[in-house]
This record gives sequence, C-alpha cells and structure tokens, in this order.
Amino acid sequence: MEMTIMGQKELQERVHRAQLCTGCGACVNLCPYQVFYQDQTIVLDACDIKEGRCFAFCPRTPADLEAMRRRFFAPGDLTPEIGAVKGYLIARAADAAIRTGAQHGGTVSALMALALAEGLIDTAIVAEGADRFLQQGVAVGDGAEVLKRGKSKFITAATVAAFNRAAKGPAGAIGVVATPCQVFALAKMRMKPLPERDNNIDKLKLVIGLFCGWALDWRKFTALLAARTALEDITGMDIPQGRRLVVIYTRNGALEIPWDEVAPIAREACGVCVDTTAEFADLSVGSARIGETWETTRTWNQVIVRTEAGQALIDLARRKGVLEFREPPAGVLDELKAAARDKKKASLEKIIARTGNPEDLIYVDRRDPVIRAILD
Ligand SMILES: Cc1cc2nc3c(=O)[nH]c(=O)nc-3n(C[C@H](O)[C@H](O)[C@H](O)COP(=O)(O)OP(=O)(O)OC[C@H]3O[C@@H](n4cnc5c(N)ncnc54)[C@H](O)[C@@H]3O)c2cc1C
Ligand code: SF4
Ligand code: SF4
Repeated sequence: MEMTIMGQKELQERVHRAQLCTGCGACVNLCPYQVFYQDQTIVLDACDIKEGRCFAFCPRTPADLEAMRRRFFAPGDLTPEIGAVKGYLIARAADAAIRTGAQHGGTVSALMALALAEGLIDTAIVAEGADRFLQQGVAVGDGAEVLKRGKSKFITAATVAAFNRAAKGPAGAIGVVATPCQVFALAKMRMKPLPERDNNIDKLKLVIGLFCGWALDWRKFTALLAARTALEDITGMDIPQGRRLVVIYTRNGALEIPWDEVAPIAREACGVCVDTTAEFADLSVGSARIGETWETTRTWNQVIVRTEAGQALIDLARRKGVLEFREPPAGVLDELKAAARDKKKASLEKIIARTGNPEDLIYVDRRDPVIRAILD
C-alpha cells in the first residue's frame, strides 16, 4: 500500500469527497486553511504544501498498523480483534453523583478528573454541546469542569481540533477523551511522520478511548427529529442493550427511535470504520456487559487496559477509591472480541463493495496480518 504523505488537495479528493471524513478534527487548527463548521470539515483556502500534517494525521489516509502496534504496545498483549489487552475490567465511579452526570458508570469522567487532580495532566480535552445540538471539543483544567461534560454526544465533537489548539498553548501535559477514529489520529501524530513539524505531540500524556459503533450525521439527525422535539430540549441519548432502538431523553420525556430509522443517519464514514474499541488508546471504555437488566448494566463500564500509563491510572483509581469494580462474568471478553471482529469484517466488506477490488481497501493496509486474517 502507498504510504506516501501528500497534501491538502489529495486529502480533499481521497477523504472529503470520498465521504470518508469522520469529523475527527485532526486536520483543523494546524493551519488557517481548514475549519470545523456545523459537523463538517471545511476547506477555506487552498494550500500547496506537498506533504501536509493534515494528510499525515488523518485517520482515513493509509497507515502502517503493524508499526504502530509495535511502537505503542507490548507484543504479548496484542489480540487480533480488539488490539492490546493488558487487563479487562468491569468498573464504575465510586461516587454516585459522578455516575448521575455520566453516560454509564462515569468511569471516563472519574479517571480524567483524577488525572487532573493528581497532576498527571494539566489539561483535559472533552466534548461539550453547543448551539442546536452541534458538539465541540473543549480544553478544561479541573475535574469539576470534566464532570460537567459527562455523557455521550452521538454527534462528532472534533476533539482532535481542540487538542491541536491546546498543544500550541501553555498546556504542559494533555489528556484526551476520544472516539476510535480520533484516538487513531492522535496515534498517527505520535508516530511523528513529519518529525520537524511534530505538533507538540509529546504533550499528549493520556488517551481514554470510547467504544464506538457509529456517530450520527448532524444534518440528518436534525431532520429526523424536526417533527418530534426541539433540539434545545434534548438532554441525552443512549442505546439500550438488547433493544433495536435509540432513546432520546428530552425535557418533556423520552423518545424511542427504532434502529431502522437511526441506521441511515449515521455518518457515511462510520460504515467503513474497522475499530470499535479505540485500539490505540491507553484505556478504552464502553458500556458494560454483565448479563443483568439494562437499568443495572448501564451504571457500569467495561474497560480495556492497553498500556503501562493506562494501568498506572487504574491502579491509582483503585488505591484512591475513585473506582469500584466487579468481576467480569465468564465469556464477556470473548463476546466483545466477537462483536469487534464482526464490525471489522462488515466494514471491510463495505470497502470492497465500494472499490470492487479485494486488494484495494482504500485507507486500510491489505497486507496487515490482522486485516488479512479477517478477510481470509
Ligand atoms: C459517538 C459515540 C458512539 C458510541 N458507541 C458505543 C457503542 O457502540 N458501544 C459502547 O459500549 N459504547 C459506545 N460509546 C461509549 C459510551 O457511550 C460511553 O461513552 C462509555 O460507556 C463511557 O461511559 P462513562 O459513563 O464512563 O462516560 P462519561 O463519564 O459520561 O464520559 C464520557 C466522556 O466522553 C466525552 N464525549 C462524549 N461524546 C463525545 C464525542 N462525540 N467525542 C469525543 N468525546 C465525547 C465526554 O465529554 C466525556 O468526557 C459511544 C460513545 C460515543 C461518543
Ligand atoms: S477524518 Fe479527520 S483529519 Fe481526516 S479530513 Fe476528516 S476531520 Fe480531517
Ligand atoms: S464509527 Fe468509527 S469513524 Fe464513526 S465516529 Fe466511531 S470511530 Fe469515528
């Protein structure tokens, strides 16, 4: 696969126009030419740099996955389905108030707040709602600000753009909460493909990844909801396990939208995404699988520990009583692996349907052993 770094023109042709843009924000705030506006990355002006950071960092341009795995993870921890697994836990915030303001068990918010309180980082990048249910990344400096921004926003928040902005400023040590495509962009930055323009990536000290099956296209989402609720009334969303629907919480009650109506409004790029568990994060967090009712299950998280930094933060949270834990039920890790593998396979099949050529996987390296094993 051609790994050559190209420029903005090629990024536009191969990613934007090909509907592969995930809205991660990695190409924004590097230069004045690209901005994130109303759920889309917009090119304001043409740039003639031949090798651009925008192209190099984009999660939808080619990457050497094996080299990246070797760089970040212990070889013995690697699994083909979900990347490195140093540890696997069921956990949640010990403080019930944190859980109330969180999507599930509040593990992500509690860990980010802890990292700030202990000085492991001085800046956290999280997501927050803006006008008309648009979402954005924001840099905050203390735990209370992290806790205010809990809950999942199922519209992309371009958090890597917020990282790019913060990394240029006085921040010394940055932690980021990110979806898998955003985590992957940050990992590409960490590889320093253009060493003389490294984007202050060494300031990145912690990446907490979110499991992710899709994000919604904001325009299609607003159209779908137009007749059902005012966007300002939405207070949250969730995907209850075992039911094929999405729940939209509003100030006037909950709306249940059947899965068949939601699936077509996912971002086009999510259909060809091969990572559901944020494989290049320090820690990855999703909703738990514990075989109980959704009301109980939704107050817990499953956590994949991937790196030494991730393990150190979990150990600290245990010592400080910030998280509580329960035994993972037998077989849940295997269920997670199977689900992740199925999503990889389905996405690869969609890519091949697009190109009409099993050897052309667009941005995915067909020689990568994990990808080869799934295709075979
Ligand atoms: C688009 C999307 C799709 C998801 N799909 C799945 C899935 O299929 N299966 C699954 O198990 N889990 C999924 N999750 C993760 C899940 O919803 C919870 O985020 C996770 O279980 C952590 O729960 P928590 O209570 O610890 O999070 P909280 O403590 O509430 O913290 C959530 C953190 O995520 C940040 N955040 C919210 N939205 C975004 C966003 N769009 N981009 C970047 N950061 C954001 C918040 O600012 C906050 O810091 C998804 C999350 C998102 C954003
Ligand atoms: S996927 Fe990210 S880096 Fe690539 S074009 Fe879209 S916003 Fe920019
Ligand atoms: S499904 Fe993939 S591309 Fe879409 S938001 Fe999630 S990680 Fe990004």
